[in-house]
Amino acid sequence: MMKSSCLLPLLALTLASTARAHIPPVEAKHRPTEAAPIATRFTFFLPAATGSTGPTPPLAAPFAAFAPKVGVRWDEKYLYVEAKGLPDHPLMAGIKSWQQQVPIPQTYVGERAWRIPLHPVPAKEPMSAKTHFLRGAIALAANGVPIFNALNNRGDDAKKFGELDSFGGHCGKGDDYHYHDAPVFLEQTLGKGKPIAVALDGYPIYGFNEPDGGAPGKLDEFGGHDTKALGYHYHAQKVYPYINGGFHGEVTEVDGQVDPQPSASHVRREGSAYSQQPLRGALIKDFVVAADGKHYALNYALNGKALSVKYAANEDGTWTFIYSKPDGTTETETYKPGERRAGGQGAPGGERPKGGKGGKRPPAPEQPGAKGEVTKQLLNR
Ligand SMILES: [Zn+2]
Ligand SMILES: [Zn+2]
Repeated sequence: MMKSSCLLPLLALTLASTARAHIPPVEAKHRPTEAAPIATRFTFFLPAATGSTGPTPPLAAPFAAFAPKVGVRWDEKYLYVEAKGLPDHPLMAGIKSWQQQVPIPQTYVGERAWRIPLHPVPAKEPMSAKTHFLRGAIALAANGVPIFNALNNRGDDAKKFGELDSFGGHCGKGDDYHYHDAPVFLEQTLGKGKPIAVALDGYPIYGFNEPDGGAPGKLDEFGGHDTKALGYHYHAQKVYPYINGGFHGEVTEVDGQVDPQPSASHVRREGSAYSQQPLRGALIKDFVVAADGKHYALNYALNGKALSVKYAANEDGTWTFIYSKPDGTTETETYKPGERRAGGQGAPGGERPKGGKGGKRPPAPEQPGAKGEVTKQLLNR
């Protein structure tokens, strides 16, 4: 007895450190033989200003604060932001309305970098996010995580439906993590009064207050206003629209989203072990990245039972997923990125088809196969 009680603290410590440092068990055959640094696998940690011309634009500052995880470069017209789209803060915990998506690092890099106008132009007909841009990102947070419309495709407030974690984020159908709320907590890194994000029309998004700490006063329907000190800019708000509720500046809308913008990587296809149906009764506990940066685990409870999705990037570019099942068994599937093509998302590795300038099509019907139950399917967009 004496012996085992002495061992208990050690055991607890071992378990705790094991949980963090190593996410078991990925079968040996799926394990990369040599631990290559993740940076060689995802080459988006580019030095800032590579190939850039002219002085550093002020719009680069919020993103530069998150270097080297977020990279910036620019030309005369645009700021390009590169990131893997995964934040440093804990994510996914507390999500109750879950469609079985998990965070996978994205490759918003090179030609798939985010593109933001450096010289925003007020739109002749500003477009509201109540009726437009129900798909894709409308802003980019300083930490390289995209921000989507606060409304899901039913026009419902995603925040009110238990779809978001405590940081206002969740994953879309491409297993791409994104926010639906203003990431005001980034002020802890950036400093109070600094822009926390940039809308895709090129205007910055500040926190709840002005840089001098004062309240912003009256904002327009998009949550923005013009001040002598800052020009036009948006503010985070505690009520809808939370972020920019549309675009004061010019943007191009194609198929219901700002164009161009990078699409998600689409690693997984639906199969016997994975579906994108809502998993009723699920509550997400946490998301853990192993010390090697290549093994991930999403832990959740299903009607009180502890379950998980464990996954890893393999040397050959495939991903292996191990799903634990309520009956105690596990199911393993390996996916080749790009095998699945989501409707309207374009092929991985490429930009969406170019739309005509000023194209303003209505939101397109979503995922093929969603047909009858479109609304449920779209919860997590
Ligand atoms: Zn202001
Ligand atoms: Zn979403």
